[in-house]
Amino acid sequence: MEFRDLKKQYQVLKNDIDQAMIDVATSGAFIMGGPVKELEHELADYVGVKHCLSCANGTDALTLALKALGVGKGDAVFVPDFTFFSSAEVVSLEGATPVFVDVDPRTFNLDPKSLEDAIRSVLDQMTLRPKAVIAVDLFGLPANFPAIREITKREGLYLIEDGAQGFGGSIRLPKPDGDGFEVRRACSFGDISTTSFFPAKPLGCYGDGGAVFTDNDEWAALIESYRVHGKGSFKYDNVRIGLNSRLDTLQAAILRIKLKAFREYELNDVNKAAEYYTQLIDGMTKFIKKEIQITTPHIPNGYTSSWAQYTIKLSVPSGEGSVNRAALQAKLKAKGIPSMVYYPTPMSKQTAFKEVHKYALTMNAERLAESVLSLPMHPYITREEIRAIAEALISSI
Ligand SMILES: *Cc1c(COP(=O)(O)O)cnc(C)c1O
Repeated sequence: MEFRDLKKQYQVLKNDIDQAMIDVATSGAFIMGGPVKELEHELADYVGVKHCLSCANGTDALTLALKALGVGKGDAVFVPDFTFFSSAEVVSLEGATPVFVDVDPRTFNLDPKSLEDAIRSVLDQMTLRPKAVIAVDLFGLPANFPAIREITKREGLYLIEDGAQGFGGSIRLPKPDGDGFEVRRACSFGDISTTSFFPAKPLGCYGDGGAVFTDNDEWAALIESYRVHGKGSFKYDNVRIGLNSRLDTLQAAILRIKLKAFREYELNDVNKAAEYYTQLIDGMTKFIKKEIQITTPHIPNGYTSSWAQYTIKLSVPSGEGSVNRAALQAKLKAKGIPSMVYYPTPMSKQTAFKEVHKYALTMNAERLAESVLSLPMHPYITREEIRAIAEALISSI
């Protein structure tokens, strides 16, 4: 069994993907060929924003966002303590300072209350200037953007959505004119939003890739410049220091095929798989010792996830009812079931950030790092596989 079965997906889409790759090779337009612009239009249209600019990977997408917003030395950028390293790495790379914020133990996403505390604390100490928030859509679930946006508006901060795992998720929100509701997709919630096309993400290519989304014309123009060596009016007119960060035509052509499958059935299928997982695991927990808790993912009302991961929480690692996670993983592995720990270390405990001052307590992040476990998840997983995983999980505890 695969943790995320990319080979199965390829078998299903093989004819179209092979043809798309041959078309690019035949055209010889490997850099910024036709499929790049076409993909950008399709992505902007799907997400519901004015501009989409593709780039080399999801980390560069965040860097491009920070550059466009002018984030640099002396700036505090608020980042959840429980995320992939990139979300905070890019902040330090731009010379700014990441301020780690705690997460909600139920959604794993940035906790608005902790964000407010961290902003207060930075303002009180008067060494850094609060500048931006990077909110992450962890495991595919959009962050609490209604609450976070209220805070960034009040405090005059930029909001960046790190949608590397969130592409395809959504939130049902009241319309701005107050007349009914609308569904807004992930990668539309930030002043600038980003995603990654790393193969294992909800929408993945066959290598590295990423994209930046914004409604703002000025920032879009800046990002277009920054992604090609800070170009000005033409390629050899360089007006600022930038990056070499383009999406290959080959990857764009592959992504166009995959986006179609994602929209037509993959997103729906992965949601059905998650529903079945939760129904089975919740139903089976009555067969284990009552002190032990297995918590299935929480999706708040009005939210949908794109299920980058299906992540359960195990009882605390010490005391009565505790589950030995490493031993559990070994038992699953012996039954041919892969599992992963996303993520074993909170950002504030990473060696690379040991010099970074802590402004907020991040107990939930610390607890989650010890208790989460991600199970195999992808649109092509079968009900039989999910049943086998759930049974193996319960019998291994
Ligand atoms: C994967 C990921 C990134 C970085 O994307 P790459 O394409 O691997 O550079 C950034 N943030 C989060 C939350 C991610 O999961």
